[in-house]
Amino acid sequence: MNPNIKNIAVLTSGGDAPGMNACIRAVIRTGIYHGINMFGVMQGYQGLINNNIKPMDSYSVCNILQLGGTILKTARCLDFKTPEGMQIAYDNLQKNDINGLVVIGGDGTFTGAKLFSEKYNVKVIGVPGTIDNDLAGSDFTLGYDTAINTVIEAVDKIRDTADAHDRLFFVEVMGRGSGCIALRSAIASGAEAVLLPEKETSIEDLIQKLKLGASTKKSSSIVIVAEGHKQGGAFDVAKRVKETFNHYDTKVTILGHLQRGGSPSSFDRILGSRLGFAAVNALVAGESGKMVGLKGNDIALTSLNEALTKHSYKLEDDLMEMTKVLSI
Ligand code: ATP
Repeated sequence: MNPNIKNIAVLTSGGDAPGMNACIRAVIRTGIYHGINMFGVMQGYQGLINNNIKPMDSYSVCNILQLGGTILKTARCLDFKTPEGMQIAYDNLQKNDINGLVVIGGDGTFTGAKLFSEKYNVKVIGVPGTIDNDLAGSDFTLGYDTAINTVIEAVDKIRDTADAHDRLFFVEVMGRGSGCIALRSAIASGAEAVLLPEKETSIEDLIQKLKLGASTKKSSSIVIVAEGHKQGGAFDVAKRVKETFNHYDTKVTILGHLQRGGSPSSFDRILGSRLGFAAVNALVAGESGKMVGLKGNDIALTSLNEALTKHSYKLEDDLMEMTKVLSI
């Protein structure tokens, strides 16, 4: 055991993602296994500034593995972006004698963690917790798999009504600038087309594709639209397609925040457990300024710098090619 790490705190920050609770549980119990005093910070960096930091034992994470959201709450904290706010956060860590921090969140959370650890030499390990799957250094982020499952459950239901009425549905999914949720949910739900931020698809191309589907006797179609798509959101795209396909009964569904909630899938429960376990083990091994992630089926450490700057998360081109064949 690393004699310098006596007290570790964990926080969740930015957007919540299913699997965060599984990760918190793993962090707390792994720390306790190592004989470390464990703390939970409420509401992300806001809790560091407000000194809302509480001791946690093994029982405090009982019965949370299956819950969505985060028992530690989360927040978007503007004060942490100021030198004054960061100083208060550091002072509170000192007061509580905390010398290791696990932060679970997305790129904003990691940017804060990197600046904080560089300025104050605090030992920090990041866990990629975001449904967007947009961090380099991990093939999967926490919550991504559950969000896809939520989308396909919704699209399956939409498919029934689309088919009954011969309708053309545009379903908008989350992901900010990332098309990962859109691409995978399009494959898993058999959508006729998908519009991604990373790929140029003109409205004309989309119309061609839908016409092709119609020529194979399809009377209803579903188009998944990633929220970050350059042609606008699902309403904009639907409006422009309707100008050509005016014989179609066109509908739009924005799935919105329901994609963030719900009980985590088995994949996210296991991923959260593995990443939480690995995060504490990394701190104990003397690591800092790094993110624990999953590469292939192995846990890998990536510097926060690399996770943030090398925007190399990959939209799977081979999957994109496959949809062109399978969706007709
Ligand atoms: P998601 O991808 O789900 O939105 P996120 O971690 O990217 O999650 P953000 O709101 O971007 O969510 O960031 C979370 C928090 O990280 C911010 O509210 C802020 O407290 C902190 N943070 C972000 N950027 C910085 C920065 N430049 N300096 C200090 N702290 C930052």
